[in-house]
Amino acid sequence: MTGIDASHEPVDIAIVGGGLVGTALACALAPLGWRITLVEASPAPAPGGQGDEAPDADNLPPDPRCFALADASCRILQGLGAWPELASHASPIRDILVTELGRPGRVHLDPAELGMAAFGQVVPAPALGRALAARLETLDGVTVIRPARVTGTRQTGEGVVLDIEGEKTPARLEASLVVAADGADSPLREALDVPVRRRDYGQVAIVCHVTPEHAHGGRAFERMTDTGPFAMLPLPGGRVGLVWCVETPDAQALMDAPDDDFLERATRRSGGVLGQFSEAGVRRCWPLSLAVAGQDVVGRVIFMGNAAHTIHPAGAQGFNLGLRDVAALAEVLSGNPALDRGATAREPGEWLDAGAAWRLEAYARARRADREATVALTDGLVGLFSSRLGPVRALRSAGLLAHAMAPPLRRRLVSAAMGYRAPVPALALGQRLEPVRAT
Ligand SMILES: Cc1cc2nc3c(=O)[nH]c(=O)nc-3n(C[C@H](O)[C@H](O)[C@H](O)COP(=O)(O)OP(=O)(O)OC[C@H]3O[C@@H](n4cnc5c(N)ncnc54)[C@H](O)[C@@H]3O)c2cc1C
Repeated sequence: MTGIDASHEPVDIAIVGGGLVGTALACALAPLGWRITLVEASPAPAPGGQGDEAPDADNLPPDPRCFALADASCRILQGLGAWPELASHASPIRDILVTELGRPGRVHLDPAELGMAAFGQVVPAPALGRALAARLETLDGVTVIRPARVTGTRQTGEGVVLDIEGEKTPARLEASLVVAADGADSPLREALDVPVRRRDYGQVAIVCHVTPEHAHGGRAFERMTDTGPFAMLPLPGGRVGLVWCVETPDAQALMDAPDDDFLERATRRSGGVLGQFSEAGVRRCWPLSLAVAGQDVVGRVIFMGNAAHTIHPAGAQGFNLGLRDVAALAEVLSGNPALDRGATAREPGEWLDAGAAWRLEAYARARRADREATVALTDGLVGLFSSRLGPVRALRSAGLLAHAMAPPLRRRLVSAAMGYRAPVPALALGQRLEPVRAT
């Protein structure tokens, strides 16, 4: 990684936002020969912090989230070179059990149906962040500017000009392509007046690690309730990551409850499938809403990760979806873009323009189906289980849900859990991306 350049030269690609998705994108693009700058609003984490729930460092809040990574995502992270650092923090998902609170029936999802040993791996969010940051440190070709905030954007035809605010940072940055990975409230999305489809789920996810009485055996549990899912994800060392969705007015009492009380209530909510919970870790909560950008490409700006699609954690799809965006864009920006097989016939000027319209069209085309299906599946799951509509309730009370889920929805769930939806990006297939020009 190169240092800060006081009078910043124009770059091929500017990445706005160095969260998980922006950092993963920087790792994916660094070997491809483009000049890249990443602008991140928060300061670099102070050194320290190795825990799986603890913050990365003293200047960050704790993050007990653990992410269920689909098999395709694990392969993408391998392709980015971030997996070796992460492997010792990962726990395989050997099967998934979906049940509904207070109703008969269960859906057992088995990776053997697809000839696989595991759906993917569960990793603690801080370990994932550290692994990506550590990998980026080892790569040349990306300048990181932080703490600095992008405050304005202008498209010029040949490129995009970003206004930047920060101490000892350039005031402007010109790029041929801008990737906005600036999170759920994406300031760039606002600045460009991109319409957003929103829905407040009226739910909050409370997240906490606990120790179960019985071994989890690599099984992930998703218990549907009318206030949202209650998920238990297998972690290394026999721990389990809880994601407990409750209606917003009930969240504070649960956050404030003493550990013993919280553990007792969580055990009851789990239906006792893993016995009594003990040793509650740090608790944090996230309000849940849907925010889907009406356009993921505007001129030479691409929206990615939560900036493009912030979704409910039911089904654990958010980061997985963002990572597939990353892999698809890296492919379009590589020297072997299978997404547009006619690309090699392009004129050199067009070929070396990172923000050329043909590249962005190829990207948008490749991502549309996966995005729409993943958002619809996640939103549909939440709606189905929290619906107070008569016919849906009647179906559920009859205990028919598990059967209704049987063939079509079940197949969609299995394939979504694996993360392979056509067109599968090259990185998810373990293929190497070639540089677009020598570095
Ligand atoms: C409870 C919970 C559980 C989840 N579980 C899963 C799971 O199991 N599996 C899964 O795949 N996903 C899961 N997710 C989803 C996952 O957390 C998100 O998809 C992912 O974190 C999105 O990352 P991002 O980089 O797009 O956004 P963010 O992490 O929000 O990063 C955005 C970055 O942009 C920076 N920024 C913002 N504005 C500017 C600016 N103007 N200039 C410069 N920088 C800026 C911010 O500082 C930030 O660092 C879960 C989410 C929640 C809430």
